[in-house]
Amino acid sequence: MATDHTQDVLGGCYCGEVRFRIPGQAQPLQTGYCHCVACRQAHAAPVYAVAWLPDTDFEITQGQEFLKWYTRSDTLRAYLRRHFCTNCGSKVFNSYNGPFGGQQISTLGAFPTLFDDQVLARSEPWAPSMHMHCAESLMDVSLINDGLPKLPKGGDGG
Ligand SMILES: [Zn+2]
Ligand SMILES: [Zn+2]
Repeated sequence: MATDHTQDVLGGCYCGEVRFRIPGQAQPLQTGYCHCVACRQAHAAPVYAVAWLPDTDFEITQGQEFLKWYTRSDTLRAYLRRHFCTNCGSKVFNSYNGPFGGQQISTLGAFPTLFDDQVLARSEPWAPSMHMHCAESLMDVSLINDGLPKLPKGGDGG
């Protein structure tokens, strides 16, 4: 298992107590940058990158006891749970139990920002493939010239 490109994807939170693994063969269902107000508040960032997977393709390998989740049930995104490390406050993943792309599957949003291998994080298939919720963006999205589609609203996961 030396040099194949199907090595597991490893990563973790800011403090390192929580660690996760994505099997090397896993393929994201959707990737993107989300500019929406809710994600900006949750991550305290102007934009964040997410890669949605079937939730069976993501495993917490260490620090499960540090994880908590929060959902803001007053929004349309009540199905979205944001899981975070209680030791350092870093978001670790999102889970989503709503319909995804017309399929009724449980999905999980992983954050390439947390991958140990940051070259991998910006490579296929993990690199963001679109900008979502551009209508809410804090940024002037007309100044973003990375060639990716700019959706006024969400993709399938948000
Ligand atoms: Zn942590
Ligand atoms: Zn969002």
